[in-house]
Amino acid sequence: MQQPLRERVADPSEGTDLGTLEFDDSFARTLPGDPETRNFVRQVAGASYSRVTPTRVSAPRLLAWSDNCAALLGLSRPPIGGETVEILAGNRLAPSMRPYAARYGGHQFGTWAGQLGDGRAITLGELTPRPGERWELQLKGAGATPYSRTADGRAVLRSSIREFLCSEAMHFLGVPTTRALSLVGTGDIVIRDMFYDGNPQPEQGAVVCRVAPSFVRFGNFEIHASRAENDSLQRLADYVITQHFKDLGPPSPRVYERWFQEICRRTALMIAHWMRVGFVHGVMNTDNMSILGLTIDYGPYGWLEGYDPAWTPNTTDLPGRRYAYGRQPDIAAWNLARLANALHPLIEDVPALEHGLEVYAATFTASWRTMLAEKLGLTNLDREGDEALIRDLFGALQQTETDMTLFFRGLAVASADNIEPLRPAFYESGEPSDAHRSRLVSWLQRYEARLKVEAMPIEERIARMNRTNPKYVLRNYLAQQAIDAATEGDVSQIERLLHVLETPYDDQPEHEDFAQRRPEWARDKAGCSALSCSS
Ligand code: AMP
Ligand code: MG
Repeated sequence: MQQPLRERVADPSEGTDLGTLEFDDSFARTLPGDPETRNFVRQVAGASYSRVTPTRVSAPRLLAWSDNCAALLGLSRPPIGGETVEILAGNRLAPSMRPYAARYGGHQFGTWAGQLGDGRAITLGELTPRPGERWELQLKGAGATPYSRTADGRAVLRSSIREFLCSEAMHFLGVPTTRALSLVGTGDIVIRDMFYDGNPQPEQGAVVCRVAPSFVRFGNFEIHASRAENDSLQRLADYVITQHFKDLGPPSPRVYERWFQEICRRTALMIAHWMRVGFVHGVMNTDNMSILGLTIDYGPYGWLEGYDPAWTPNTTDLPGRRYAYGRQPDIAAWNLARLANALHPLIEDVPALEHGLEVYAATFTASWRTMLAEKLGLTNLDREGDEALIRDLFGALQQTETDMTLFFRGLAVASADNIEPLRPAFYESGEPSDAHRSRLVSWLQRYEARLKVEAMPIEERIARMNRTNPKYVLRNYLAQQAIDAATEGDVSQIERLLHVLETPYDDQPEHEDFAQRRPEWARDKAGCSALSCSS
């Protein structure tokens, strides 16, 4: 039985209809475009983008909508079918839209992969709802482009639900991220071999409308540098600085250096936040690294359940675990070094580039330390013994499979005399072994002694810890349950879950079921613990 999404007739007094808005085209207006306008797969030279129109879908229907993202743009919720949804599906363009696909390259799993580009993402245009704001609207899954290589330009419902939900969940967690406005079902079938095991299946197609100030990646610079397109490289850098790093002033050799340092700083902050909330991106290739330091391209990502630095959700990554949780800080540094190489024609001063990488390391270390202190309800981790306290905590979390999110949330109200609040965090039987219990209790005794040094009132400490230790994250199996329901026609679960994830630090007594450790049935279920890149 189809469970329709909350239907609402557009009320012009609430906000504006997408089709009536004026779209800017600053990226394509400013940068070198591909002179070829026919849509066929090819290598493109010199250009930063290619003009391309989305390919029609047969029966678009709105499946989910983010009111919060819409408010950014001054949009009201549209009816589930109609003109706005036609635009969000790629079937119709607003008069001022001039769509394009961006050209970029990238290092994938440590190896230069050459030209990649927007193979299924098409930018519709940019909205400027308020002075100083610019929001690019991009459809993912909108059909083939010159960069589609051997693929079809489409996206399946399951991966689109995951991108829609996680973009918004990350925003509400306070993690820098691209946003998602809408999820539209296309009514078309897409064929995917989910586990690359020679078993292709028909799946429902979908399109997500993503929103960010810009979707420029490290790879946009790398492709120009790799082809010695230094003029295009400089124009792209000047555009990004002028449009998105205004505080740095007009582009100059000195400003390029400061710009690279700022990219390093923002990337460090983003990674520290990932570590704080237990997010694992899964495919940290340089084409998936935003130049603005935003989390971008939600594919086979996952959330730590049991704390384990070696965990990766991406089955494609299992052999090397390159993109495992604990490796993310090093991989971001490696990616920034690739960006540094690409920017070398602009920043010939190698020590300045090296300084940027030092800024990354210093910012990450300082941010992660601050966040860890906050997670523990401490004002700093500068005292003697603090290093050991942290090391022993993570050692204990790994000794027995312990849910990271539930552990930190419970820690605010646990004590050596009462480990009850931590009990929901233990997998297996939900019961720590005697050895583990005594290790935990002795750690809690040291922790309590450390808390006493701070003399922070208990209520204040609990409130502070609860502001940084989320109660609700997009647990892998929760996303999968919303996917399973939607695949059967009940899309209401998507926004129901989104609603809970909009206030992830609040106790929501009516939604305790969304704050439980992963049930055992989900341990090895596809989509809940292991994901491929197939999407
Ligand atoms: P990803 O692993 O999702 O970051 O994608 C890597 C590259 O493959 C990018 O250039 C994507 O645009 C492209 N790509 C991924 N899936 C598709 C698809 N279904 N159709 C066309 N291009 C795709
Ligand atoms: Mg990508």
